[in-house]
Amino acid sequence: MINIHAISAFKDNYIWLIQAPNSQHVLIVDPGEAKPVINAIEQYQFEPAALLITHGCHDHIDGVTPLLKHYDLAVYGSNKENIPHLNHAVTENDRLLINDHFPAITVLELPGHTRGHIAFLIEDCLFCGDTLFAAGCGRIHSGTAEQLHTSLQKIAQLPKHTKIYCAHEYTQDNLRFAATVEPNNVTIQQRIKNTKHIRQKGMPSLPSDLALELASNPFLRCHHADVIRAVEKFSGQKLTTDLAVFTALRAWKDQF
Ligand SMILES: [Zn+2]
Repeated sequence: MINIHAISAFKDNYIWLIQAPNSQHVLIVDPGEAKPVINAIEQYQFEPAALLITHGCHDHIDGVTPLLKHYDLAVYGSNKENIPHLNHAVTENDRLLINDHFPAITVLELPGHTRGHIAFLIEDCLFCGDTLFAAGCGRIHSGTAEQLHTSLQKIAQLPKHTKIYCAHEYTQDNLRFAATVEPNNVTIQQRIKNTKHIRQKGMPSLPSDLALELASNPFLRCHHADVIRAVEKFSGQKLTTDLAVFTALRAWKDQF
């Protein structure tokens, strides 16, 4: 089994290290900063094998160039994004064999937050950057609401036990919004309590899993009557499709 380590960066980013089974080899996901990554590599005597980049926002890539000054690493990502030193351009359904230590990684294209956003699925762990967050989803930057909606639906089709390793600690803020949209959802209320407890101990609220997201993330629940009713009330319009509900829900969250 792979082992996942969280490295905190900036105010609320996570850089994930994926450690190969019975090995010190690690993959580095979205290094927005180099220093905390280098510190962890030195402290635990990891051997970095590659960089996996979900998209080109600066807080996911600014550590790439300084890391390559220290280590000779392959850089995996989409060529639709601006990723420095990208030398392994990947697309939908690519199966990545990094080296003998790691299980195969599957690439999923998940545009919406940005137009070339991808995710990496390894064993049952999804590294999804800024698409799906715990109890929320990414903002729309260079992509479209339609793309993001489709991408979230694609994640929703994965096995329910899939672990969600997103790139930010936004869970408590997202749950406040989720509880506003669905005040009668008991899973959301329970999750608020659990998350508060975890955060008080200084632990990451991640990973989440897909089953919990389907039960408590309003952006995956645009077909539920309570969500539709709340979003229609907010927007003052009748919303007749999932996409219309999703688009209005995203706009609501943007000003929440
Ligand atoms: Zn981003």
